[in-house]
Amino acid sequence: MRVAVFGGSFNPPHLGHLNSARYAAEQLRPDVFLIIPDHQPPHKSLEAGSPTPEERLELCRRNFSDIPNVEISDMEIRRGGKSYTADTISELLHQFPDAEFFLLVGTDMLLDLGRWYRAEFIMQYCVIAPFQRYPEELPYIEAKAEELKERFGARIEIIRSIPLPAASTDIRSLLRNRQGTGLLNEDVYAFIIQNRLYGAKVDFDWLRNKSYAMLKPRRVAHVRGCEQEAIALARRWGADENDAAEAAILHDCTKKAGLEEQLALCERYGIVPDALERKSEKLMHAMTGAALARAQFGVSDAVRDAIRWHTTGRPGMTLLEKIIYMADYIEPTRNFSGVEQLRKLAYEDLDRAMLLGLEMSIEENRNYGNEIHQNSVSARDWFEKLVTEEEKAE
Ligand code: FE
Ligand code: FE
Repeated sequence: MRVAVFGGSFNPPHLGHLNSARYAAEQLRPDVFLIIPDHQPPHKSLEAGSPTPEERLELCRRNFSDIPNVEISDMEIRRGGKSYTADTISELLHQFPDAEFFLLVGTDMLLDLGRWYRAEFIMQYCVIAPFQRYPEELPYIEAKAEELKERFGARIEIIRSIPLPAASTDIRSLLRNRQGTGLLNEDVYAFIIQNRLYGAKVDFDWLRNKSYAMLKPRRVAHVRGCEQEAIALARRWGADENDAAEAAILHDCTKKAGLEEQLALCERYGIVPDALERKSEKLMHAMTGAALARAQFGVSDAVRDAIRWHTTGRPGMTLLEKIIYMADYIEPTRNFSGVEQLRKLAYEDLDRAMLLGLEMSIEENRNYGNEIHQNSVSARDWFEKLVTEEEKAE
């Protein structure tokens, strides 16, 4: 039985790791390919704010899912403390008594291998399988391999690969700058964004693609327009443009769902719609959209709330909530009668524009014979009072 062992911090696991694992799987043909995220590397500590061990395990599951015979092992995480490879190999010798072990090591680890804790023991029981992390490392690997053979009688099988250069440290800083998608497996990136690991900020191109895929094709132009308008309004009124963009991109993410599906989404996210909401997919899409944006895209409370209130409004709306409500209403593809007046007002006096918008919306719904939700009425009343007070103060 052949067992490949690939350990590391995997903080986060990236396409470079996956690339090396693929070459190793191809060349070594192991019966079991163990991926073992460490609890704590022996000579450094994980950066503060790193994901929990469970999260790193999940990232590894997602990253290496297509490697044949792969098993993501929590043995080092369960053992706790510093993760010495020798301890892991000891444990594995019990688990797989007749196995031949292949220990995968990147160039940097290989160069250090002679100094590892119980290095001789490791080399006695494992074939060392070094791989390049960057091109042109091969000569260093070959030289070191010769040295280890001579000094320790090591058995070495170099993984012949075309490396895909990537470093977790770089990726962590890219993630904070809305980048890094190109170096990460799609499912890994999605999990990082869902949970906003590493202080990640979402890549807008990625988010647009995700959002548009959830829409009916004819609604994409509206959502694009809404983003453009929301950014312009945020700039005009001094709100965070990135929050405005994020909320606008996602604001209709559950709009496609019909009544049944909306009710199922409510169930899934623990939303309890009232009697009127239960009958209206339009009212529910704002609630379910907010919940989905949070659960799948890790949006902040402010962004979530802007999506939540984009259909009815509410008393005491925040600046961002007003911006999304208004952007949805006046974005460039809208062409109802009165839109020009509302557009103009939105850039002159946002509260008056909100009042007018809410009045128009209530009126329109009345004309369609729709029952008006209490939130719309109380939002209208709240803005009416606000505008009157502002007038008095002038
Ligand atoms: Fe909507
Ligand atoms: Fe919309």
